[in-house]
Amino acid sequence: MGGEIWVYPFSEGSAEMRELLGNKGANLAEMTHVLAPDRVPDGFTVTTTACVEYMRSGEVPDGFDEQVAEGVAQLESAVGKRFGDPDDPLLLSVRSGAPVSMPGMLDTVLNLGLNDGTVAGLAAGSGNPRFAWDSRRRLVQMFSEVVEGVPAAEFETALTEARENAGVELDRDLDADEVRALVARFLEINERHTGHAFPDDPHEQLRRAIRAVFDSWKNERAVTYRRLNGIPDHLGTAVTVQRMVFGNLGQTSGSGVAFTRDPSDGAPGADGDFLLDAQGEDVVAGVRNTEDLDGLAARMPEQHAELLESLDRLEKHYRDIQDVEYTIERGRLYILQTRSAKRHALAAVRFAVDAVSESLLDREGALRTIDPGSLDALLHDSFDPEDSYEELTRGVAASPGAARGAIVLSAGEAEARAAEGQDVILVRPFTSADDVGGFDAARGILTSQGGKSSHAAIVARGMGRPCVCGAAEVVVDSGGERLAIGGRELAPGDVIAIDGSTGVVTADEVHLVPPRVSDTFTQVLEWADDMRRLGVRANADTAEAARQARELGAEGIGLCRTEHMFFGSDREQLVRDMFIAGELERSRGVGESSDPGAGGEFADALGRLGELQRSDFAAILHEMRGLPVTIRLLDPPIHEFVDVESFRRDLTDAERTGNREAIERARTRLEVAAGLEETNPMLGTRGARLGLLLPGLYAMQGRAAVEAAAEVAGGGDAPRLELMLPLIAFESELESLRGLVERAIDEALEAVGATLEVTIGTMIELPRACLIAGALARRADFFSFGTNDLTQTALGLSRDDAERGFLPAYLAGALVARSPFESLDREGVGELVRIAVERGRAADASLKLGICGEHGGDPESIEFFHEVGLDYVSCSPFRVPIARVAAARAALD
Ligand code: ADP
Ligand code: MG
Ligand code: MG
Repeated sequence: MGGEIWVYPFSEGSAEMRELLGNKGANLAEMTHVLAPDRVPDGFTVTTTACVEYMRSGEVPDGFDEQVAEGVAQLESAVGKRFGDPDDPLLLSVRSGAPVSMPGMLDTVLNLGLNDGTVAGLAAGSGNPRFAWDSRRRLVQMFSEVVEGVPAAEFETALTEARENAGVELDRDLDADEVRALVARFLEINERHTGHAFPDDPHEQLRRAIRAVFDSWKNERAVTYRRLNGIPDHLGTAVTVQRMVFGNLGQTSGSGVAFTRDPSDGAPGADGDFLLDAQGEDVVAGVRNTEDLDGLAARMPEQHAELLESLDRLEKHYRDIQDVEYTIERGRLYILQTRSAKRHALAAVRFAVDAVSESLLDREGALRTIDPGSLDALLHDSFDPEDSYEELTRGVAASPGAARGAIVLSAGEAEARAAEGQDVILVRPFTSADDVGGFDAARGILTSQGGKSSHAAIVARGMGRPCVCGAAEVVVDSGGERLAIGGRELAPGDVIAIDGSTGVVTADEVHLVPPRVSDTFTQVLEWADDMRRLGVRANADTAEAARQARELGAEGIGLCRTEHMFFGSDREQLVRDMFIAGELERSRGVGESSDPGAGGEFADALGRLGELQRSDFAAILHEMRGLPVTIRLLDPPIHEFVDVESFRRDLTDAERTGNREAIERARTRLEVAAGLEETNPMLGTRGARLGLLLPGLYAMQGRAAVEAAAEVAGGGDAPRLELMLPLIAFESELESLRGLVERAIDEALEAVGATLEVTIGTMIELPRACLIAGALARRADFFSFGTNDLTQTALGLSRDDAERGFLPAYLAGALVARSPFESLDREGVGELVRIAVERGRAADASLKLGICGEHGGDPESIEFFHEVGLDYVSCSPFRVPIARVAAARAALD
């Protein structure tokens, strides 16, 4: 490790060095090359590799401390001040920055270098003792909290007391002596908790702050954030050490956050917050309400113009919407951070379209700026414009989309209620990094403080959750569980609705209506369609879902599950009768009867079910005229329809009537039903196995499907029917069932005098099927990977049990990064898919390949399906647009 470099001055770094210098460090370095000289306060960045080394060994690597000291020395000579100089001290910030932006998750310490000696020098140099003591106060507070782990509440209590004693409302109204006394209190608190005096040596402060930032990589909220955002744990954070500049030096100073375009809807023109006489962290905390950039323009026109100029340069340079932190110290503008802005999907789509028309990006480049997963938010609900409702209050429209749910006042409560399946709205004065788990659980977020760049707004947009913030008429006291909105007393558990596109909050029962696809979104989708290779279909079991899917751009149905058609009380009764009769006939050895004309209870029940299915299929096929529709023959285990208890009740009822014949019949039926019970139904008589035991069943379904197709084809523009056999493990199953289904459809077509091309394929959802894919391919026209069951069978776990049981613990402990049911397990399940693709295609090069598990709507999984060469993915209708963009991204990368 001898000659390794752990420290890079800004002048030696660049944006490409993100892995090494973290996002923040790399961009600070880049900005020194892009912006006007001295726009960025000077500094240096400690590499992520140093952090990784520190995490591995518990020690900083050899040469590290020396290189940091050298960095400080260089900085001192560049700035012309000395770190620890009692007359005119250089002060430093220590800032965290991972290769992937994790806003607010890692720690930062400001004002390092202040002690009782240097604070006097700062007071003299700035001519502002109050400022100097307040800076010292902030250092003691942040250092104690971040580095020494002293509870934040202790300082808050002391602050409140100090305000009360002084008879003022705001911290900033405390005078120099009062702040000085408060510093003494803070130092006592620190000493009481740590058992040692606060470190006064600036170099000691710096040394410990850097280590604390390294440690913050592993704090709970950072770990949670990484898990939710799929960021690997091994990256580590870089640490940037930078000269402090001060936005809290009076009426010619201030801080803010600015975006090069509106991050909630993408409207062109800078958008942001400004807080006069304040440090940057005051803006993000959202504790004081901010002004917008017009406020800055009115107060400091020159600095406002400089800011706009910097924003413009940065956006042109990075070719993406930027999110910028700035500080004005006595009339001098400094840029402290830039990063690609987290944006709502509305903004992502609008920016992509505008960037192309402004020649900032080409179409491919524009598409790359869109995170396909975020588009989900565009497919979210809004308030029904037809409904009237009382507006309780209106806050800042911070993240679009509408949400309804029961009020919860804490993130923990949100998680607990959501786990019980309840829709909740998280209501807080403001949020902090510790609330992130609650954002994920809540349908929406409402806060009383902070603006568009408050923590609540940023995180909600990032996660696609509707958010209204800064709603001053929301009065929350989470300790006392009291809540009032616009003067109305409410309680946790009461249902409210928020609209993050307008800022409206109501307690009335307003309906949420599904979204319509905007013109800009349509434009982006058309580009995506030109770029992608994968087809995109939808999983739809009803005509309504099929219509929606087609509207959202589905190119067919990849999975139409027939069991859903059997739900509803009349149909369930019929299905029960069918199974019992079928089982009875089978046990008597007459199971071959599949022809309704042949008579018998089984044939009779099948005939009636066939009628129902035919009309269901016709409605779906009608919606999908001209497109392929894959109908999967019945799959679920019998127990989903045949509930033994109900037969027991039937017997009791029969016994009450005293009718011998009825009792005998009910008893036989109960025996049959009881005989169908299985220990592991999901691994029992289902899918192909059921189809083989009751051959009449699949024959009926095949017949109903082709009759429906023939009927729809009569109107021209025939649908392309694909029949799919589920849960095949053996080639012989496929051979036998295919023969059976082919005979049934040939007969049916002959009877109606139609010709129709029908393909027959198989679902691949068992590991064995993947391995014998070559043999299956010779008998199937297509494969469709049923990745839900394939995940269960490959991992040997049942989804329901896993999700209720150990999976949450696995996710929390980071044993797995994402649920294998959300994102395909590439190494395991993915490998099986790859094998099946290879073996299947080797046997039959024209084999059509698709996937119809829920993974078909997950962008990461889609990337994989593209890579292994599938022909199409199929997902739920509302994820079709996401899949179209994800498929295009996959083709580009
Ligand atoms: P985060 O990643 O949480 O935004 P930052 O490192 O950006 O953390 O710092 C937190 C706050 O402190 C920001 O508002 C930032 O602008 C401010 N800050 C950081 N370094 C300096 C500095 N050298 N001078 C003035 N303000 C700073
Ligand atoms: Mg920052
Ligand atoms: Mg299945």
